[in-house]
Amino acid sequence: MSISFEIEATNGCARLGRLKTPHGLVETPVFMPVGTVASVKGVSQDILEELGVQILLGNTYHLYLRPGVERVRQLGGLHRFMAWPRAILTDSGGFQVFSLNELRQVSEEGVKFRSHLDGSSHFFTPESAMEAQIGLGADIIMAFDECTEHPADRERVRQSMELTLRWAERSKKYFEGHKNEVPWSRPSSVVDRRLEDQLQALFGIVQGGMDLALRKESAERLIEIEFPGYAIGGLSVGEPRALTRAVVEATLEHLPSDKPRYLMGVGTPEEIVEYAGMGVDMMDCVLPTRAARHGLLFTSGGRVSIKQARYAGDEAPLDANCGCRVCQSYSRAYLRHLYAANEVLAQVLNTVHNLSFYLDTMRAVRHSIALGNKVQLFPGEQSLAEP
Ligand SMILES: [Zn+2]
Repeated sequence: MSISFEIEATNGCARLGRLKTPHGLVETPVFMPVGTVASVKGVSQDILEELGVQILLGNTYHLYLRPGVERVRQLGGLHRFMAWPRAILTDSGGFQVFSLNELRQVSEEGVKFRSHLDGSSHFFTPESAMEAQIGLGADIIMAFDECTEHPADRERVRQSMELTLRWAERSKKYFEGHKNEVPWSRPSSVVDRRLEDQLQALFGIVQGGMDLALRKESAERLIEIEFPGYAIGGLSVGEPRALTRAVVEATLEHLPSDKPRYLMGVGTPEEIVEYAGMGVDMMDCVLPTRAARHGLLFTSGGRVSIKQARYAGDEAPLDANCGCRVCQSYSRAYLRHLYAANEVLAQVLNTVHNLSFYLDTMRAVRHSIALGNKVQLFPGEQSLAEP
């Protein structure tokens, strides 16, 4: 078996679910922090566990380039390599190839690209992307897709969507033939024995640009190929937010209600709440961690740019409504000082708070769904505003 997904309660379109993976239970809707190179920048795994992170995202593109898939595989797979006992999802590498490589060359066979690290030439195909993700050994892996650029004309979007569908079939075919090669299939310790007979799950990705009819067709034809979960890709590529929302809404209605739905690469706290309310089960985004490293903090009172001089003498906690270890111990003045002094600790503490805020937000969303309350950010209050 690989994963199982049960919906425990619904509230409008929102769903409260339990996603069981080989490495533990994930309560949905869930926000997945991004651990690009087998590390959530600045935060150690024990703190992520303490924060209640149930599933992390790893980037195949980055891990493939460094330290290399074979190295990770020989070390027992990502979980053991990074000492993370809970669930992991890896992307296919497709998005990074498209976002980090202007000189990429796409053909029917795959994508030729240059490493952003040393300029060396590489080639990803649906088969090699599956081979890489099987070697890394995440619980959930993603089909290889082409992220269509925006804007693009309809014919270009259609061709790209068709290519993604052909690649989805090839991804599944390779996966089915090689899924027993996941590193856990060779348990080397008693602890790992429980993972015998457990397999990864491969999700398909809906594309189709901003065209609602193509999104529908992409979803329907992907469902014919059959996956245990479906992702909505190709969004947050520079389009206005209202359009993102319209595409998500139009796509969700064509996805099976009994399978997990993963919206890739979103969003702000307001957005993740909104998408959960629309029926999205899984989300990931670099925003909380990246913003933290730039001193932008999300709080129940709105966004705080901690670098501002007005916090230099502010003894209050960053967010009086936040129970995280940062808000329990440190003042805004101290956080501002660390940032101004360019201390590594500033990145650590800021990231811990922002992740805590995102995880608390999703915890509150799950609570609202369970109670049948309206799914919104800070029930009873206005949504976050820019200070
Ligand atoms: Zn906090």
